[in-house]
Amino acid sequence: MEELAVFGGTPVREKPIYYGRQCIEQDDIDAVTEVLKSDLITCGPKVEAMEAELCRVTGARYAVVVANGTAALHLAALAAGFGAGDEVIVSSVTFAASANCVLYCGATPVFADIRPDTYNIDPEAVEKLITPRTKGIVAVDFTGQAVEHDALREICEKHGLILIEDAAHAIGTKYKGRPVGSIADMTCFSFHPVKTVTAGEGGAITTNDEQLYRRLMRVRTHGITRNREEMVHPTDALWYNEQVELGYNYRMTDFQAALLLSQLCKLPKFSARRKEIVARYDQAFGEMPEITVQREIPESETTRHLYILRLKPDMLNCDRKQFFDALYAENVCPQVHYLPVYWHSYYEKLGYKKGLCPNAEQYYEEVMSIPLYYSLTDEDVEDVIRAVKKVTAHYRR
Ligand SMILES: *Cc1c(COP(=O)(O)O)cnc(C)c1O
Repeated sequence: MEELAVFGGTPVREKPIYYGRQCIEQDDIDAVTEVLKSDLITCGPKVEAMEAELCRVTGARYAVVVANGTAALHLAALAAGFGAGDEVIVSSVTFAASANCVLYCGATPVFADIRPDTYNIDPEAVEKLITPRTKGIVAVDFTGQAVEHDALREICEKHGLILIEDAAHAIGTKYKGRPVGSIADMTCFSFHPVKTVTAGEGGAITTNDEQLYRRLMRVRTHGITRNREEMVHPTDALWYNEQVELGYNYRMTDFQAALLLSQLCKLPKFSARRKEIVARYDQAFGEMPEITVQREIPESETTRHLYILRLKPDMLNCDRKQFFDALYAENVCPQVHYLPVYWHSYYEKLGYKKGLCPNAEQYYEEVMSIPLYYSLTDEDVEDVIRAVKKVTAHYRR
């Protein structure tokens, strides 16, 4: 058997590849340069054009583009009216920002377990956590797969809850033929460079609700309004604006919006290539008894942001760290998504205890995300598969 690189053998690849990276082409660069030469580099026409495009792509009535995905979640939680004494149910396997936005508003995140096979929030677990204080749900389309909207909608209607969908992974995904972004009360996107389309840093909230939209627009810019109907002391002075509530500066620049606009035009090709790579991985790993392939619900037509390689520990003579390190030494560099949020020491200090979500905790011990992005070549993909097979063969029980 070929010696693993971690023990001094030759790595599968000469150059490392990582789990994600952006694809910036000449026309993206040109779009940015054009704005930089124009009069308005922020608060100009590109942000509005971007919002219109996002409405077209997601089928939502309104879109509010913001500085990053975390700002989108913060404003959504604020517009939802979450505050002190409220409980908000959050996915346990996600980036910390999905829960932090609840804390920003003074409310309490309550973590719901995931389904052991799709890794998305389990609606039955959600239902069990509802109390008279529950105000909403932050549900994450984990890896890009849509959450179980029908079940979550039913729970929200029954208990009067607001559904915020954290779709940072899921631009381009559809649920029962409807694009993510037009289904939940508010949907939050991130345009960080590892996500499917990028603005460098960027985010957005989409909604079909006009009241929520107006509130989001206002808190994006300090809580200041120029709309006389929203003022306490309206005047007809042209210069007059009024701060009517406490907001933030979460605006995006016009050159970022131009980049995002250019990127969003490429979503169909980005999405198609990601689907191709996922299909190839699923085929290769589906034949390996040491690996579990993520289950897709038939309702979700998924543009995958992450590909999760999940080990079956009883089939392998190594733990996740040894497998991870061996793959890394082959120059196929994975990452782990995610530590259950309440395992972070900050949440531990807040009083959250291990054992809360057993499926999430077991999931975390067995997974790593392997390279998945548009510009991976077929050879890159085969290298990844070869490296996984090589490491698996070495540690096979
Ligand atoms: C990336 C991400 C965010 C935060 O987005 P930023 O743009 O980095 O602030 C939130 N939630 C999830 C699930 C993410 O993956």
